[in-house]
Amino acid sequence: MDRCPNCRARADGTTHCRRCGMELDRLAAIEQAAEQHLQIALRALASGQRPAAKTALHQAQGLKNQPLAAKLLGFIGVLDDAARVDFASDVTTQARPVPAEKAPPAAEARWLQW
Ligand SMILES: [Zn+2]
Repeated sequence: MDRCPNCRARADGTTHCRRCGMELDRLAAIEQAAEQHLQIALRALASGQRPAAKTALHQAQGLKNQPLAAKLLGFIGVLDDAARVDFASDVTTQARPVPAEKAPPAAEARWLQW
């Protein structure tokens, strides 16, 4: 946190704002927790655990709006949509009837036996 969210005075690393006296250490702790959730999400995403990454990103965003977390949530959303499209195309491919072999119709087969 660079500035006090109340009066915009430059933060000097102390627990209270030098201008308005607002308590800043709890806000700094929330910012730090949001960053930790973002790091957890990045590790989960790197190891292919997309649902865990999504959960951690939502937790991070709940604490502090971070542009990187928002972009990663969008990225995961695109990956989830692509997976849904792939699954749907797999299902429709499997549902299509298999082309019949060029077997003669039953009546013709019986006639050919003569
Ligand atoms: Zn202040």
